[in-house]
Amino acid sequence: MDRKTFLQSLGLGTLMAGAAGLSALEKIADRSGRTDRMPVLFLGHGSPMNAIEENEFVRGFRAEASRLPEPKAILCVSAHWYTRGTKVTAMDMPRTIHDFGGFPQELYQVSYPAPGSPSLAGTTAELLSPLLVEQDHSWGLDHGAWSVIKHLYPQANVPVIQMSIDYTRDALYHYELAGRLSALREKGILIIGSGNIVHNLGLVDWANLDRTGYGYDWAMEAREKINNWVTEGDFNSLIRYREQGKAINLAVPSPDHFLPLVYTLGLKKGGEQVSLFNDVLLAGSLSMTSVRVG
Ligand code: ZN
Repeated sequence: MDRKTFLQSLGLGTLMAGAAGLSALEKIADRSGRTDRMPVLFLGHGSPMNAIEENEFVRGFRAEASRLPEPKAILCVSAHWYTRGTKVTAMDMPRTIHDFGGFPQELYQVSYPAPGSPSLAGTTAELLSPLLVEQDHSWGLDHGAWSVIKHLYPQANVPVIQMSIDYTRDALYHYELAGRLSALREKGILIIGSGNIVHNLGLVDWANLDRTGYGYDWAMEAREKINNWVTEGDFNSLIRYREQGKAINLAVPSPDHFLPLVYTLGLKKGGEQVSLFNDVLLAGSLSMTSVRVG
């Protein structure tokens, strides 16, 4: 048992003991400004190597996880499950998918054996009805999901399902679809979008692949603009990203890694806080910027 789990179990035991415990719970809720509603995350996943490397980004993921309530299950929208129509993984035990090439053997040996949750898959489909959501039994967890969730919950003891991104639809559609999942937040479900905000692989400076804090001028401009839209709640500009000039179009050459951010923001309720972490450019044309809502 790690320190956090231990403290939580201790706190829960005390709080369940009686009325004095209940008032303590209320005080904690007041002080933190948090409610029972689960926060929502967008995680910049970057290179699959982050799954096995020790660096500032995985430390950022861990630090964020330590500030989250323990979720009952996770629903992840990964950039790497891009399909016609919307699907959810509905198997009991999703496999770990090594959906990349040319990396060290060590990375292909990583397994993340979190259970699935057929019941959460079913509930997700019900919430999105009348949209037909396929209950999928062939996918699993792709690296957009496991390479980051592994750092949040290293014991793989929280059930995880994935929901795919319908590539035939635009950003506004995805924003509205996300909003229809908001009831899950009240049920202890942690919803995670996993992608990258600035993500132009064609322009990566391969000679400086590990150089953090290094972005081209357009990447710096795009990061600043998008960060402002995210933190100031200007989601209208963000959803219309194609109309926002050259820097944004260079940062988002294709929608796949950007749309998971749109899902995360589509779940924000009025008045909720939005904060950034891992907000770093690297290799010229990538960012690891991650977002917490709530
Ligand atoms: Zn990716």
